[in-house]
Amino acid sequence: MPEIKPSSSTKVNQSPIDGAALLAWYDKNARKLPWRVGPSDRAKGVTPNPYFVWLSEIMLQQTTVPTVGKYFADFTTRWPTVFDLATAERDDVLKAWAGLGYYARARNLHACANQVVGEYGGIFPNNADDLQKLPGIGPYTSAAIAAICFDEQVAVIDGNVDRVAARFTALAEPVREAKPFIRSFIQQSVPARAGDFAQSLMDLGATICAPKRANCLICPIAAGCTGTLTAEPTNFPVMPPKKQKPLRVGHAFVVENAAEEIWLRQRPEKGLLAAMTEVPGSEWFKAEKIDAKPEVEFPLNGEWQNCGTIDHVFTHFALNVSVWKLNAETPPSNDGWWAKKLGLNGEALPTIFKKVLAAALERE
Ligand code: SF4
Repeated sequence: MPEIKPSSSTKVNQSPIDGAALLAWYDKNARKLPWRVGPSDRAKGVTPNPYFVWLSEIMLQQTTVPTVGKYFADFTTRWPTVFDLATAERDDVLKAWAGLGYYARARNLHACANQVVGEYGGIFPNNADDLQKLPGIGPYTSAAIAAICFDEQVAVIDGNVDRVAARFTALAEPVREAKPFIRSFIQQSVPARAGDFAQSLMDLGATICAPKRANCLICPIAAGCTGTLTAEPTNFPVMPPKKQKPLRVGHAFVVENAAEEIWLRQRPEKGLLAAMTEVPGSEWFKAEKIDAKPEVEFPLNGEWQNCGTIDHVFTHFALNVSVWKLNAETPPSNDGWWAKKLGLNGEALPTIFKKVLAAALERE
């Protein structure tokens, strides 16, 4: 078979994805997911629960299906309907979300549930345009809910679909530079069973056309795929040159009292990790190097123990924090609370502060 060199797909007359072949594969191989109505039930007229689909789609942003499974089960047990979630305490929602990251999503989740109940009587809008007016629902999530729940014929493009499209068309540019092309390419492929088509593409990308492996021999859409004719389909999507994230540095202070309680406080209502729980700490300063840390200013006098450093990567910067620990009965700030060490799992602690506490407490 001749090797086809990747060329700019925006100039290639690429045929659409064979929707019938893909759906026939999906009918036999759809992944069983707790928020999904499988293709055979869908054919019998069972419709997906928009609350479940919305919840899962928000959770799945930046997170994998295995991780989301446990959170989804927990949320739908505690708050089985959008009405239940709307009346929940926001702090309880944030606590239940802890560990999933990107906490603005949890705050928007609660705000969205309230708006769906307050403005729409608890019934999610049935089209992408109206869905997108709700808090935390962007172009991707609105399209996913509209297609999956209401069969609106819109392109649903997540990371898996980007990858399949880039391979199928042997896309020469990084996907983030070819978004309009990918959208119009997928849009022209969407059949009447729009929801099943969207989910079949996601499943294909999660199983057969996976990030590190393309199993072209058993792929239902191989007949139209340009990437499979190249020497190595997994060379697509092509990667943009890597940019190093800017660095920030700081100090974190873990104070434990004789009752085995740790001093915690709430972060500000706005900004990064807003309203989540933290241990007191310094500002996070911009720095060129990790060792360019400002001198530590302890919030209490005492024998502070150095517990090393932890690293954490946020979307827009990398953070290196020195962790300090003190046993004391005086709080290091006047705006927090003592939390039982054994109850820390129930606090709305983002991963960064879980790492800080782990570093401080493992030294005991
Ligand atoms: S044929 Fe291969 S590269 Fe093309 S979509 Fe299928 S698995 Fe991906």
